[in-house]
Amino acid sequence: MTIDLRSDTVTKPTKGMLDAMMQAKVGDDVFREDPTVNELEKRIANMFGKSDALFFPSGTMANQTALKLHTNPGDQVICDKYAHIYNYESGGASFNSGISCKLIDGNRGMFKAAQVLEAINPDAYYYSQTSLVEIENTTNKGGGACWDFNEIETIKTLCDENNLGFHLDGARIWNALVSKNETTQQYGNVFDTISVCLSKGLGCPIGSVLVGDSEIMKKAIRIRKIFGGNMRQAGYLAAAGLYALDNHIERLSEDHKKAKGIGETLTKLSIIKTVEPVETNIVIFQLNPDVNETAFVQKLADKNIYIISMGSNKLRMVTHLDYTDAMHDKLLSALLE
Ligand SMILES: *Cc1c(COP(=O)(O)O)cnc(C)c1O
Repeated sequence: MTIDLRSDTVTKPTKGMLDAMMQAKVGDDVFREDPTVNELEKRIANMFGKSDALFFPSGTMANQTALKLHTNPGDQVICDKYAHIYNYESGGASFNSGISCKLIDGNRGMFKAAQVLEAINPDAYYYSQTSLVEIENTTNKGGGACWDFNEIETIKTLCDENNLGFHLDGARIWNALVSKNETTQQYGNVFDTISVCLSKGLGCPIGSVLVGDSEIMKKAIRIRKIFGGNMRQAGYLAAAGLYALDNHIERLSEDHKKAKGIGETLTKLSIIKTVEPVETNIVIFQLNPDVNETAFVQKLADKNIYIISMGSNKLRMVTHLDYTDAMHDKLLSALLE
């Protein structure tokens, strides 16, 4: 039995999902004639109370498109130092949009409205023009932490007062919604654009969706084309997304429960210094300084258990759809051995 906890992206489509994909009605999406893509986009737009949605091959492309929609070259986006758009999108913000990131020194990838206010550049020509605030929920590098929605609303007010766009990288928004009992509508009310991943906790093989209202979204399809993200009979992929929306959202609470269990077990081990609070499906922990990180990871790998290093002596485990109860029992006993 192989236990792969490196990411929630390692899942493979279930039988039900594969069946839905094989039965999809498709057409050429470049002509906007793929009925399944159109259905997925309409459904996700409605969920968030937005008029438009666009299907993307990756979350990175959806975020990069959002950055381009909200900014002009030379502008600045305010985001956390842990932000995916800053750390894990290959410098795309500068390459694709010619913008820089003003990094906030937040806590587990989250920050306060007061820090946003400090980060907005004055309106003088020699400053970069601040045009966008971007946050991530749940935070990836922050260990699956969930934002306090009141803080998000306060930041939204600041954005309005300062004429700034507000983008949510919601790659794992589904985990936050389930964990905090929040709704897609409340997020749609606050953000101008939201990117959501179907390929993480929801278990699809591919796909992200960007939502927003028509005024900002009207250029999104052109930008996606410039990035080379136009697709043809993509309905086979969109069908997986529709299936996941019906079948794989509520069950995320099982991933969260298992992640909590892992966190509790790790806390008992003398070789572990700290375990970050587990709120969703990500567990980040730190070994004692005298424990060799590579040896620890290798010892687990020898037992067919795979986890990844996040740098700075931090290790990460992510629970997901393909992480079964049997694997969970085996992992917990392997950790305690
Ligand atoms: C995974 C992820 C993305 C997008 O990833 P892709 O691999 O490009 O689909 C964006 N933001 C966050 C926070 C993520 O975890």
